[in-house]
Amino acid sequence: MIKIGAIKLELSDWLYNAGVVGLAKILETSGDTIKKVGNVLEFNEEALQDFEEKYFNYFIDKYKPFTSWQRIISFEDEINSFEENTLNDAFINKLNDYIEYTKTKLKSASYKSGYAIIDDNEIDLLNEEKKLKKIKKSKKQLISDLVPMIKEQLKYIQAIISYLKRDDVKKIILAKNIIYDVIAKFWSDVSFLNKNNSKNNMYEEYKSYFTSNIMTYLKDEKHKYKYQCFSCDAPISKLSKPASYDLTWVNKMGVDMSRKTSHFWNFYGDSFICPICNLVYSCIPAGFTVIRNRGIFINENNSMENMIKVNNTSINNNTSFEELEEKSYFKIADSIKQSEIERASKEIDNIQIVKLDSRNDRRPYTFNILSKKKLHIIVNHRKRLRALVNATVKVSSNDYINLYREVIGRLYNNKNQFDIINKLLILNLDGKFNRLGYVKSIININNDFIGGIMGKQSVYYKDIDKIQQLGYELRNIYEIKKADNKISGICYRLLNALKTKNQNRFMDTLINAYMYGGKQIPVILLDALKGDDKLQTVGYAFILGLQGESGKLNLGKEEKGNE
Ligand SMILES: [Zn+2]
Repeated sequence: MIKIGAIKLELSDWLYNAGVVGLAKILETSGDTIKKVGNVLEFNEEALQDFEEKYFNYFIDKYKPFTSWQRIISFEDEINSFEENTLNDAFINKLNDYIEYTKTKLKSASYKSGYAIIDDNEIDLLNEEKKLKKIKKSKKQLISDLVPMIKEQLKYIQAIISYLKRDDVKKIILAKNIIYDVIAKFWSDVSFLNKNNSKNNMYEEYKSYFTSNIMTYLKDEKHKYKYQCFSCDAPISKLSKPASYDLTWVNKMGVDMSRKTSHFWNFYGDSFICPICNLVYSCIPAGFTVIRNRGIFINENNSMENMIKVNNTSINNNTSFEELEEKSYFKIADSIKQSEIERASKEIDNIQIVKLDSRNDRRPYTFNILSKKKLHIIVNHRKRLRALVNATVKVSSNDYINLYREVIGRLYNNKNQFDIINKLLILNLDGKFNRLGYVKSIININNDFIGGIMGKQSVYYKDIDKIQQLGYELRNIYEIKKADNKISGICYRLLNALKTKNQNRFMDTLINAYMYGGKQIPVILLDALKGDDKLQTVGYAFILGLQGESGKLNLGKEEKGNE
């Protein structure tokens, strides 16, 4: 009888950790028992039985809603609810879009290599693809004349869908989809990602490269082995496959290997790892959460338990990357709260956030450190930040920015938000942006950043509302005097003064503006403008009111909204 032992994996650097987390998630999803003790993951060797199935099932389960397979088969609902009496142009457009999409996918290289694996004569999808034709309506034709053509197309589509849903077909096509959508963004060159193997069964390729040698390795007497695994120090017998593996296939995902300046990666380049670490590294894509071309991994190596928890964010095909990031921060905050309750004395280290942008060939990974203070700001302003997630602003004819990304990016890099606040207020004056509430959110977040992280003087949050209200009241005075056409000129001058941090110019403009309105400058405004650090926060809050965003209105709304 073979003695079944336990495999133990200990947390290390981020790359290895991503692999361990991925492995843990794969095993957990497939119902295997895993133990998380401190920073160690433990599971029985027998969990590696049929691991190739578990590996692909994990990705298919998580990413199916994003796949082209899903998009193609989801048209079945349309076919089932099709009624010729209610046929309209909208349906025809939808059908034509679908046909165009499906034709492209069915003849793509990835699908073609899938057909080679399925090796089945029942139906040839490349033939079926040719039968799909867009519906064209001539001017003389009535919509009802198109019914026979449409019915014929729906019949072809149904046949394609039924075939794609067959278990053995689905298994291969979905595996091809997730290899392309997720796995290939993290590693390449070996196993099913070796170009020569693209027409081989990926499950078998995975097994033969990553798991088949592990059992032998585990059973071997290792005390005479003279080499050590670069990653986990385990003994290895030879510096060649299958006794050990190199890391170049993973390197490609990291830093540009052609640049000799990267010591870390050169170090990896001539290093050898044991078969178990080889398996761990193959699971890196499962450690990340990926949305389209972007992925995130949180290296919170406090404990194995937390590490897995914070990297297990559920997503669906409507989730944007910004939403995923936003959700991830709250998982971190929750996990910190939890571990603080459990171990009151434990100091929380900084947390490393690793982001992948696979469209960036040269530098696909970015690393950010999230300090506890920054996390506090993110948590305290949760509602405000969440509202920014979907806020996309057109800044010029072809240039769009996402406000969440802009604000979080500055926070990460210890930069204040004044430039983006200024830009948004200018866009508002130019009639190109009207969501002034977002500007207020950014002013508040930034005010906390200035006080909490930069250690400078911040403005009491209720004062921000009051000052904004003063700006709004001055606007009313101008409106009553029918001089509203002067407001934007004043705003431009004030914004310019703030941009160049010119306090005198700001004050002069302000004094003139009040004089024209026949009013004295309110004392509270004068007081608030006294500190150097406060000029910009106070100034922008005032301009926000002057441009028409009422402070009073916000006072009630914000307080309710931010608990
Ligand atoms: Zn190892």
